[in-house]
Amino acid sequence: MNIKEQQRIGLFGGTFDPVHIGHLRPAIELADAYSLDELRLLPNHRPVHRGKPRATTAQRIAMLEIATSEIPRLVVDAREAMRDKASYTYDTLLEFRGEFPGASLVFFMGLDAFSAFDTWHRWQDILELANLVVIDRPESQLSDWAAALMDTQNRQVGARIGDAEAGVIERCSVTQLAISATDIRERIANRQSIDFLVPERVNQYIVQHRLYDHVPERGS
Ligand code: ATP
Repeated sequence: MNIKEQQRIGLFGGTFDPVHIGHLRPAIELADAYSLDELRLLPNHRPVHRGKPRATTAQRIAMLEIATSEIPRLVVDAREAMRDKASYTYDTLLEFRGEFPGASLVFFMGLDAFSAFDTWHRWQDILELANLVVIDRPESQLSDWAAALMDTQNRQVGARIGDAEAGVIERCSVTQLAISATDIRERIANRQSIDFLVPERVNQYIVQHRLYDHVPERGS
């Protein structure tokens, strides 16, 4: 008999402009660590006027599809990217809860984001919909507020991820690769190689579509 009967779905959001090894390696580690049936990569919505020199929504999705095509547990979920405006995590999770009743949902976020979690739209309700896994980031510390929330929440739920559909908050570490999409865009604009920073087929797609040919504005 299969000892893990409850379906476990992970959700990992980002801009993915472009997707790179610094996303993919942690994603695989998270899928392993939490025995996920699938980890959904959720490209976020991007305002249309930010077009050049960044990739379009369709291109960001295409690169993710290429990067994950041979990794069965990684699934691209373009629902947020395809909307006409940015969405609240709460609304996205509500949709997932409707689609996967009874599943354990695991929403991944960086430690920096978690420290400001109380500013998120309906953050208490988010904890009714999903478990949270907070990924350690080298330069971030857990705030007192966030540590207290984690403690209270876990005492109330009294379970570990995998035994709970929602409400558990855990921390985890993944291999930290000093790679960012910003750095990749700059290298391309400066005619430097991005070999081994993105999957080879993503590199080919970038060349074919002449993406990131201009130096992106800092902070844009
Ligand atoms: P940019 O440089 O354009 O800001 P980015 O490379 O940081 O982009 P995002 O798409 O913003 O990538 O990140 C998506 C998610 O992946 C975020 O949760 C982010 O914390 C995480 N992430 C990005 N790069 C790394 C990395 N090198 N190691 C671990 N996690 C990463």
